[in-house]
Amino acid sequence: MIEGLIAGRMENLGAETAFDVLAKAKALEAQGKRIIHMEIGEPDFDTPAHIRARAAQALEEGQTHYVPSPGIPALRETVAAYVSRTRGIDVAPEEVVVTPGGKPILFFAIMALINPGDEVLCPNPGFPIYESCIRFNGGVAVPLPLLEEKDFTLDVEDLKRKISPKTKLIIINSPSNPTGGVMSPQDIREIATAVAGRPIMVLSDEIYDRLVYEGEIKSISAEPGMKDQTIILDGFSKTYAMTGWRLGFGVMPKPLAALVGKLLNNSVSCTPPFIQLAGVTALTGPQDGPAAMRAEFRRRRDVIVKGLNEIPGVRCAMPKGAFYVFPNVSAFGLPGKQVADYLLNEGGVACLGGTAFGQHGEGYIRLSYATSLENIQEGLVKMREALAKLPMKGAAGATVAGV
Ligand code: PLP
Repeated sequence: MIEGLIAGRMENLGAETAFDVLAKAKALEAQGKRIIHMEIGEPDFDTPAHIRARAAQALEEGQTHYVPSPGIPALRETVAAYVSRTRGIDVAPEEVVVTPGGKPILFFAIMALINPGDEVLCPNPGFPIYESCIRFNGGVAVPLPLLEEKDFTLDVEDLKRKISPKTKLIIINSPSNPTGGVMSPQDIREIATAVAGRPIMVLSDEIYDRLVYEGEIKSISAEPGMKDQTIILDGFSKTYAMTGWRLGFGVMPKPLAALVGKLLNNSVSCTPPFIQLAGVTALTGPQDGPAAMRAEFRRRRDVIVKGLNEIPGVRCAMPKGAFYVFPNVSAFGLPGKQVADYLLNEGGVACLGGTAFGQHGEGYIRLSYATSLENIQEGLVKMREALAKLPMKGAAGATVAGV
């Protein structure tokens, strides 16, 4: 009965496969199998102690009631100052919207902007929620391929060619999930030059901007004329190991901020105040936690890239940021998803097929290295052993069990 009652738009809603693979991996663990988790993108560190202590104190203080939908003034002011300083722009608190995680900024900003038929240029492979939200609102996702030969950053000339009278929004994400690519300041400038002054918004997903290992990161919001055309998405999940707290924010022109606040008012009402107060402490307190995490991620990145490149049939580029690697496994002649399923079932390594991030992810898998060095090393051994049993493309070979 219920099937016939579901709204048509639900067919267009996608999802993050990482959560499905996590569930499958947990089921295998429940059967007693040893699994190395490299599917989900969350830091394995604890939230720094002083941030936890502030939340606990705020609970004791009674910070447990409804607060304004777009965020408490203390956090909106703190975020405005933080973004002004880190991006080199002038942000007012009214341009800041606080949300339960960074994801709702995507969901609500796209909902507030996109009419059926509007085109949105978005990275492919890219965070799957982009395309899901675009399609859910009747928009058309126009892929911007991130190619290995271009260091997994988008081709600016291709982007310019794809801008049409229907283009309403361009999504960029640097450092990128799933490739770890970082856009050069020159590419950012060129995109800004192509877009500034036209009726097009840019959603700049900067959630990994504190996890850059090489090169310089630049926010498009700081380019001439771009502040009023940019929505910055950022948050606490990745930088402060606060994924489960659900705390993020967006910076956008005031009229759009007011509408996103209204959508929050209609959905979750507000973000919990004791969590927002912990966010103030995160941004204003000592920053040695994020710095130590970044140094450790960098060490792990170097180990995993080297280890993957030593596995026959695997080629892995060195990502410049975030905590993902996106190795090419096309030598096995199988869809990346099949390689990922095989690695989980036969190798005990949970990872994702590249097409979980769009069609241009075919031939790749994504591994998160937000896990201990010991786990990474064990995972590399398991992958090497499992992949050694897979015939390479072109090699005479029978089908392999589990594939
Ligand atoms: N943007 C990208 C590119 C991400 O990878 C993620 C999380 O995986 C998010 C946004 C959302 O983060 P949050 O957990 O704060 O909602």
